[in-house]
Amino acid sequence: MASANTKEIYGSLVFNEHVMKERLPSATYKSLKATLQRGAALDLDLANIVASVMRDWAIENGATHYTHWFQPLTGITSEKHDSFLSPNKDGTAIMEFSGKELVKGESDASSFPNGGLRATAEARGYTAWDPTSYAFIKDGTLCIPTAFCSWTGEALDKKTPLLRSMKAVTSQAKRILHLFGKDVSHVDVTVGPEQEYFLIKKEHYEAREDLILTGRTLFGAAPSKGQEMEEHYFGALREEVSAFMKDLDEELWKLGVSAKTKHNEVAPCQHELAPIFDRCNVAVDHNLLTMEMMKKLAPKHGLVCLLHEKPFEGVNGSGKHNNWSLSAPGMNLLDPGDTPKDNLQFLIFLAAIIKAVDEYNDLLRMSIVGAGNEHRLGGNEAPPAIVSIFMGEVLEGILDAIASGSEYVAPAAAKIDLGVEVLPQFAKDDTDRNRTSPFAFTGNKFEFRMPGSSVNISDANTVLNTAVAKELKGYADELEQAEDFDKAVVKLIKRTIRDHKRVIFNGNGYSREWEEEAARRGLHNEPSACEALGAFVDPKNIALFEQMGVLNEAECRSRYEVKLENYAKVRHIEAVTMLEMARRQLVPAASRYMGDIAKGMNRKKTACPGISCKAEEKVLRQLTNYTDAMSDAADRLEACVEKAERCEGALATARCYHDVVLPAMSDLRAAADAAESICGAEYWPLPSYSTMLFYV
Ligand code: ADP
Ligand code: MG
Repeated sequence: MASANTKEIYGSLVFNEHVMKERLPSATYKSLKATLQRGAALDLDLANIVASVMRDWAIENGATHYTHWFQPLTGITSEKHDSFLSPNKDGTAIMEFSGKELVKGESDASSFPNGGLRATAEARGYTAWDPTSYAFIKDGTLCIPTAFCSWTGEALDKKTPLLRSMKAVTSQAKRILHLFGKDVSHVDVTVGPEQEYFLIKKEHYEAREDLILTGRTLFGAAPSKGQEMEEHYFGALREEVSAFMKDLDEELWKLGVSAKTKHNEVAPCQHELAPIFDRCNVAVDHNLLTMEMMKKLAPKHGLVCLLHEKPFEGVNGSGKHNNWSLSAPGMNLLDPGDTPKDNLQFLIFLAAIIKAVDEYNDLLRMSIVGAGNEHRLGGNEAPPAIVSIFMGEVLEGILDAIASGSEYVAPAAAKIDLGVEVLPQFAKDDTDRNRTSPFAFTGNKFEFRMPGSSVNISDANTVLNTAVAKELKGYADELEQAEDFDKAVVKLIKRTIRDHKRVIFNGNGYSREWEEEAARRGLHNEPSACEALGAFVDPKNIALFEQMGVLNEAECRSRYEVKLENYAKVRHIEAVTMLEMARRQLVPAASRYMGDIAKGMNRKKTACPGISCKAEEKVLRQLTNYTDAMSDAADRLEACVEKAERCEGALATARCYHDVVLPAMSDLRAAADAAESICGAEYWPLPSYSTMLFYV
């Protein structure tokens, strides 16, 4: 693809502010903006004008269809395309798109998972425009970002609770700012997700049923060369990878996605793309588009993009670092200030986050649960299943000093002014960032590193926003009653740090000692996905969601069900794929190899009676053992899957897949990988780890 002028193509397929201002009658533009700012619904007259302008713009840019683009409870995004076409009686046609079609779509969504919600509500779903995320054109279709609800108002998607949680946290943040004498027009949640992914050759992908059906390798002996050399990180890009990235950047820029940095990651064939941060819901939409484009464009370059959290065992997995902050016009609320007063404001937001992460530790852990992420968490390279906060030594020292009321002795780099009571002035912590922390303060934002690479990050952000909203609300309620505001703030910060300090940990999060220490501190450590999901229906957490107006109890329970069902489904597909591959590809391959060896031995002996066949015999015996083991393990796995399928209820089923099926899958894999390691290379039907990861 010819290199286009970035400035020219950026946002060229987006119905953005610029297009609206240019094309909408100015009165319409103003009232649209005013409506959006109030967060109110559009009236139909206004919607009709916007829709007709949007339609003309879309048609000029090659669109023939439109779709309400939404985010169901599983899967990534969903769209049903309708054409603009409306036939006339005289055989001609006009292109139509009404305000009603823009703002609301009726969706026969019975095939989308709802965890029993719509059954109880007995209502069909509808999609509603989220006008705070711009419409865009993709593949000749005008995509309108929408929320998806039942007619009774229950959220059937991931966007609705996200928008509710954003509203909750930003309105509480506004209250706090008001107490600091700052009346701002609005507060935003900002998010910048760093997306990790693997690229492998298309021909390798196509030769592996496991990758095609499950997104990860279910078999594969460890390569002789691992990632020990660390030569890949920031290394030079392969030609086709670099062409892919260029293509991807351009397509994303057209969609207004601000793809900014790209580089190799730690593992071979692993890469990362980071956009410039945006408003939370927009960042989520853009991340979904990014994943879609990655998958779509890779094959054009002879590659396939793997977004799974753990495509290769023993090799680093992929995550999605969720950079998160709050901002008001002209200020990042997580940026330490220059004056003691600004510092105080910063510290109150910081304290609220510390408290939120401690009190809703289990919920944050729950928010990133997934069958794929389960292989990653607790593994060698990824954050453990314990949610703790990295604060940096300087900041922790300051917090300690505040909590104990003692003087803080600053390290040389920090600029501290202890003149004003206990309100220290400090410079940004530039110490080496701790890469092992699941939730790290990185100077002016938090980086939540637990989300998996394949998921919609709405869940993680919804929980984070809601928990922080709750704590800010508690603070605002208390501070509004205070007689001496500054003193009350300091008292509050002190109390928070004293009570919630246990969640701060600056050390090596991957170490065994930390697990022990975390247990002593009473922090959650639940490596099992299904058990961690239980937090969704814990009364304390349901109360949080209800109190903050984000999810009601039925919505929490339905999501819990969907997540459990999804876990079981993923494991089921993996297990039956393994069975199929083991029985129809791997055992036959090993037999073929052994048959040829046996034949060869006989020929050797005939040609040269008495000759040694020691090597062949060794292989025959060993491979026979492994093949027997594979066959037995496959039978056991099949029985385990049958047992899981007989379980009643989503929790019991998911548990059985986790406790019973997963270990049986491991056994089968171990036998197969052992067989692979001694089977003749040209006999083994699957491209090996070395072939896939170290191709040239
Ligand atoms: P890293 O060292 O982790 O790669 P970067 O500085 O490159 O960190 O930033 C990573 C991501 O964080 C980028 O997507 C960036 O836009 C985002 N980011 C930066 N500031 C903020 C903020 N205030 N709120 C949310 N995300 C932010
Ligand atoms: Mg990062």
